[in-house]
Amino acid sequence: MKDAFSYSCRDCEGMEACPASVVAKTKSEVWKLMELHAQVAHNENPTDWDDGTREYLGTLIKSVSV
Ligand SMILES: [Zn+2]
Repeated sequence: MKDAFSYSCRDCEGMEACPASVVAKTKSEVWKLMELHAQVAHNENPTDWDDGTREYLGTLIKSVSV
């Protein structure tokens, strides 16, 4: 068992239908994967995310054991 961080897109408001989730060893890697996912799957530009959005998304990153 190792500690890791996960993000499930469906936890995000309005993204309930999205099946994607990411798991990585560090939060910073999860952020990179979230940003990539948002670009590819949702056509979003993560550089447009303001502090409030990042704060909200940050609350969706969970600590997990894998
Ligand atoms: Zn998604």
